[in-house]
Amino acid sequence: MELFDVYTLFDIVPTRGKGCYVWDQNDTQYLDLYGGHAVISIGHSHPHYIDVVSDQLRKIGFYSNSVINPLQSELAKRIGKLSGLTDYSLFLCNSGAEANENALKLASFHTGRSKVVAFRHSFHGRTSGAVAVTDNPKIVSPFNSKHEVLWAELNNIGSVEEHLKNSDVAAVIIEGVQGVGGINIPTADFLKQLRATCDKYGTILVLDEIQSGYGRTGRFFAYQHAGIRPDIVSMAKGIANGFPVGAILINPMFEPVKGRLGTTFGGNYLGMAAAIAVADVYEQENLEKNSAEVGEYILNHLPKSSKIKDVRGIGLMIGIEFYEPIAEIRKKLLYEHHIFTGVAGANMIRLLPPLCLSKEQADVFIKAFGEVLTQ
Ligand SMILES: *Cc1c(COP(=O)(O)O)cnc(C)c1O
Repeated sequence: MELFDVYTLFDIVPTRGKGCYVWDQNDTQYLDLYGGHAVISIGHSHPHYIDVVSDQLRKIGFYSNSVINPLQSELAKRIGKLSGLTDYSLFLCNSGAEANENALKLASFHTGRSKVVAFRHSFHGRTSGAVAVTDNPKIVSPFNSKHEVLWAELNNIGSVEEHLKNSDVAAVIIEGVQGVGGINIPTADFLKQLRATCDKYGTILVLDEIQSGYGRTGRFFAYQHAGIRPDIVSMAKGIANGFPVGAILINPMFEPVKGRLGTTFGGNYLGMAAAIAVADVYEQENLEKNSAEVGEYILNHLPKSSKIKDVRGIGLMIGIEFYEPIAEIRKKLLYEHHIFTGVAGANMIRLLPPLCLSKEQADVFIKAFGEVLTQ
């Protein structure tokens, strides 16, 4: 059997990792400014993470959600403390798409409404509801497109209110910072207006912090820069440093109805151990502060070039937009300078490094990037 080949692959086989470095099959060392797609939050192969997950595997690896798993409540307490949402409750699942799927389902149950407002350039995942609120027709099948989705423009409150006024909208879903769509940052004013507008029409505000959360932007959640309180927050990527864990944080106004939400694998022991280990390291190493500082350092020290159209970013979530496609620049960074980067569309390099990136490591990128730009 062959793989169902839906990915564009680089011919690199990562065999081990440590902190912000990855080594390939030939033992070539790479600096990781991509974090396996914003997933590696505390760095590769952190010793504490290895200890906690291995210890858990020796005790018990899996049982079902029909019994009590104290690690789930422990994680809820930890995320409550880290996010400040101590009065919210936690529902666990396995991925980002699944988190959004549950968030929208809960909003629909709660309001009795079926429509959702999403934003242009959004990405919310690839399951049925999540892909329906994603602004990319190429990945939405006729089956997925049966959902009732209304589109609004980021940072344009009129475009949201128009829908909320005229239709029964269950939820507005918005990324803390748009990732795949090109590092588009909602302004603090816009998020405050969005909060007020959702309140006015009884619409649930869902913040997708799957990529922008867990310290990525220098705060635990990106929306915290605006000082609002969402009704539901979805999380995944950085939460367990590569172990598949998704979650939603739910405002106390939602009643937990038995049997309404559920999952086989969500909240499993190994995922919980991994997520608790991430919370430990996040606090011990003050990764939130490092993300803010090193992110700002990169923004202030990036080389200038007439090829660059715009640089947008906050913390360690940075987009460098070019006038022309960046595929060649990215390849040079990877094969000549051994630096992993991400992309957002054809013209943008997207940096999503582990949150432990040092200024010295940032300098290595800045120097290499300058060389590639002047070639
Ligand atoms: C990655 C991502 C998702 C989907 O997460 P999966 O774990 O791939 O399902 C959803 N929303 C945002 C903002 C993301 O970056």
